[in-house]
Amino acid sequence: MRTLSKSKLLAYRQCPKRVWLEVHQPELRQDSPESQQRFAAGHRVGAVAQRVYDPEGQGTLIDPKVIGYDEALRLTQAHLASRQPLFEAAFKANGAFAMADVLLPDGDAWRMVEIKSATSVKDYHRDDVAVQAYVAKAAGVPISRVALGHIDSTWVYAGDDRYDGLFVEADLTDDARARESEVVAWVQEAQRIVTAPSAPELRTGRHCREPYECGFFAHCRSREPVPTHPAEWLPHPTKPLSHLIDVEGVTEMVQIPDEVLTERQRRVRDCTLSGEPFFDQEGARAALASHGLPAYFLDFETISHVVPVWKGFRPNQIAAFQFSVHRVGEDGAIANEGFLDLSGGDPSEACAAALVATCGTNGPVYVYNQAFEKRVLKELAERVPTYAEGLMRIHDRVVDLLPVARDHYYHPSQQGSWSIKVVLPAVFPELRYEDLDGVKDGGMAMAAYLEATDPKTTEERREAIAAELTRYCALDTWATVKLWAFFLGRELQE
Ligand code: SF4
Repeated sequence: MRTLSKSKLLAYRQCPKRVWLEVHQPELRQDSPESQQRFAAGHRVGAVAQRVYDPEGQGTLIDPKVIGYDEALRLTQAHLASRQPLFEAAFKANGAFAMADVLLPDGDAWRMVEIKSATSVKDYHRDDVAVQAYVAKAAGVPISRVALGHIDSTWVYAGDDRYDGLFVEADLTDDARARESEVVAWVQEAQRIVTAPSAPELRTGRHCREPYECGFFAHCRSREPVPTHPAEWLPHPTKPLSHLIDVEGVTEMVQIPDEVLTERQRRVRDCTLSGEPFFDQEGARAALASHGLPAYFLDFETISHVVPVWKGFRPNQIAAFQFSVHRVGEDGAIANEGFLDLSGGDPSEACAAALVATCGTNGPVYVYNQAFEKRVLKELAERVPTYAEGLMRIHDRVVDLLPVARDHYYHPSQQGSWSIKVVLPAVFPELRYEDLDGVKDGGMAMAAYLEATDPKTTEERREAIAAELTRYCALDTWATVKLWAFFLGRELQE
């Protein structure tokens, strides 16, 4: 019998086809940059958990990636006698293999803590912990309690590498014990699937994104018939529409009955089927008519750390390390200014000062998707009291172009999205984010920030990243200027 790791068993829980592909064709998996960032954050959280759970540094880290799985199993058995904390202790039993993030001596038994970078317990964590506890117990290790250690989102970093209190534990002992027989069934069923000569026939659907985005999506999709007018382009699906697409497998827009569609979804369908864009210029102009000049156009790039690195920050709290502002003056003259901090230190104060100096005191501040920019402004105001008043005045001047676009414009090339990345080239085909060198979206901007602030990065590379980020952020605000002028039917002085 093959031994299946916990990650393969959890892949089976997501989708039986996925576990088959993980075992037989792992080379087909393509992890998105977001997935890779999640893995990296998980490693960082794991490393901090070791310091929190073993402040004296008396425990042992067993790293199978360095020493191999057989040696990890052997070392675990050897160290169980030491009665000191163990990290990544490895167990194998009944066709399953698992590693315990944290194992702490508890009388004659061991207390197990599974560490997650999430801020609450999710259903799939219960599967994870149940597998972990089952494998350890089946391998003969007495387990007294099992807990999930997740991030406390209200915790504030006091600096000096002090991370006590970052994790809160949810005791899942009873839950894990009650699910032992379920885990046995999962192992058996996953074993049966991976010994089959081919992957189970399964269509892609919502399960490909939940609980995690599946890295085999591109592969699975490439083997399915391509719909002419995909039903999944219909935006903001209601429950009945989701049911038709995800459960009943409806793939074509024309197959969706009119009565389950909202007005906006009908517009998307009609534009897609006819190939004709929709533009209600009068409505767009009216929505913006009350705002005059000067006008400012603002966009932030931000970074957040699951494990805070700057004093005073909460887990996952966002910090703006960059902004771009375009200004259209009363005379129509256009200017662009920006801010970028790649020092690796807390950028908040310098960002706040620069922003207040750049945005003037009157005139609308246009953004595209105000929820994000307003959140950044509010959090910045909380962190930098000296500029709080000025920042909140900017906050109160914000005008969002996204609802104007949603209500008054749609082009078939948008494929159900109103992201500025698709609206801009739909209206102005010559302005495309894909044509940028390097950074082309927010996820890439975060990755670029992390690379630039890594002490190992050369000065030359840092300068190249700074140039990429500057071009990218400036295009975001230039895009809002162009769309604003387009909605108003106004000529720009370019
Ligand atoms: S993409 Fe979807 S169908 Fe394919 S293996 Fe992953 S979860 Fe299963």
